[in-house]
Amino acid sequence: MNSTSSSADMAVALAKSFAGQILRPADPGYDDARKVHNGLIDKHPALIARCRGVADAAGAVKLARDQGLEVAIRGGGHNVAGRATTEGGLMIDLSLMRGVHADPRARTARAQGGATWNDFNRETQVHGLATTGGVVSSTGVAGLTLGGGLGWLMGRHGLALDNLLSAEVVLADGRVVVASEGEHPDLFWALRGGGGNFGVVTSFEYRLHPVGPVVTGGIIGYPFSAAFDVLRHFRDITASLPDELTIFGGLVHAPDGSGGKLAVLVMCHCGTLAEGEAAVRPIKAYGTPALDAVGPMPYSEVNAMLDAAYPPGALNYWKSSFLSGLSDDAIRTMIDRFAACPTPMGQMLLEHFHGAVTRVGVTDTAFPHRAEGYNMLVLSEWMDPDHNEACTAWAKDTFATMRPFMGAGRYVNYFGNDELGDAVAAAYGPNYQRLQDIKAKYDPGNFFRMNHNILPLA
Ligand SMILES: Cc1cc2nc3c(=O)[nH]c(=O)nc-3n(C[C@H](O)[C@H](O)[C@H](O)COP(=O)(O)OP(=O)(O)OC[C@H]3O[C@@H](n4cnc5c(N)ncnc54)[C@H](O)[C@@H]3O)c2cc1C
Repeated sequence: MNSTSSSADMAVALAKSFAGQILRPADPGYDDARKVHNGLIDKHPALIARCRGVADAAGAVKLARDQGLEVAIRGGGHNVAGRATTEGGLMIDLSLMRGVHADPRARTARAQGGATWNDFNRETQVHGLATTGGVVSSTGVAGLTLGGGLGWLMGRHGLALDNLLSAEVVLADGRVVVASEGEHPDLFWALRGGGGNFGVVTSFEYRLHPVGPVVTGGIIGYPFSAAFDVLRHFRDITASLPDELTIFGGLVHAPDGSGGKLAVLVMCHCGTLAEGEAAVRPIKAYGTPALDAVGPMPYSEVNAMLDAAYPPGALNYWKSSFLSGLSDDAIRTMIDRFAACPTPMGQMLLEHFHGAVTRVGVTDTAFPHRAEGYNMLVLSEWMDPDHNEACTAWAKDTFATMRPFMGAGRYVNYFGNDELGDAVAAAYGPNYQRLQDIKAKYDPGNFFRMNHNILPLA
């Protein structure tokens, strides 16, 4: 049987009990559906199962088991490592499952596994409610929550996964279960940080909080020549922030494409407008900004203000690590490395952790990074494949040069395709062995392995 006829046979087998769309390589729409956010990823699944509901996801899992196919699960498709797709396997694509329903009385929301943060904020902000989500609105709720979920509300409300109340999951054996504190608590623990290792999560239930709809947020940019002072200032202000104010610092390129470099502070204050105005006033008074766009803004706009910097299909290679501190030497090294950045889309970001995200215990969820401090992201992004080598090398070299300033922790959701085995184990630190135990219980054959893979304990 050649590969085309076997995908046809599989499509026929799946179609008997499938309500969604089944795409084979020759079908119209296949080429769009196989793409993920990172243009460096170019894989060709034998079949794409575009699910419409839980029964479809369960049917797709069964087909993959019967056929011995590698499975990849696509939520929002943003993972830089491209783990939402597979070469020659079955892509379980949830991008038709983007429903979000908010219950303002219970202050909860349920999101289907293919929803994006834009979908989520639209439905929850109607009621003036929100939970921590990604800072780019096209990112999927699924992968972001399962790996962690850093965002503008984390100082006040913790990570996205800290707000997860329950998840509906199709397991490797095809069973559909709900995981929460009360049901399958071991699985619920593992889902909060363990990524797509445990099953297809078809819906997520979140706790919501009153937020906005108008909050205080935006970006302040300074000339690159002031970067050293600006990042020291960032270090000073982040030493004592209210929970409501989360600030990221960074070195970026001007959005006009000129290649001009900037030092920036990007922020969101989720308290009242009066509190927000008072909290950002001293920050706005600092130095001589080249641009100051901080002020009252709808929360959903704060979550979309960076979208244009990350167009779908752009080529991405990222490296990241938590830092052990932000010394003057670390800042100087960042600036030197950023001066050598070969792409006008490249960035170096410092995501500051404080407040609620740091008040959860290291082993309370599978996500272990709970210390106050900075997560550094070396983000190489470019458009021209001729620049693949130079742009990838810059990120690798920069990461290596910053190594003396790094702490132990790394965030799996920013891992690239070349972070395997030991890097994954190290990223989970003290939680890895428990994750392996739970993997052995729910997925002993490592059926769900197209992810930052946790190896089941034998
Ligand atoms: C432009 C950009 C901005 C980002 N901003 C942030 C940010 O602000 N905060 C942050 O924390 N992270 C951020 N990230 C990283 C992001 O959290 C990860 O890329 C995450 O994996 C994206 O989730 P997704 O559903 O879009 O990804 P996908 O590529 O669809 O999936 C990622 C992984 O999760 C698995 N998966 C997806 N859906 C499911 C599901 N329903 N059930 C089980 N497993 C599933 C996949 O198999 C894959 O292994 C950003 C990434 C990009 C590219």
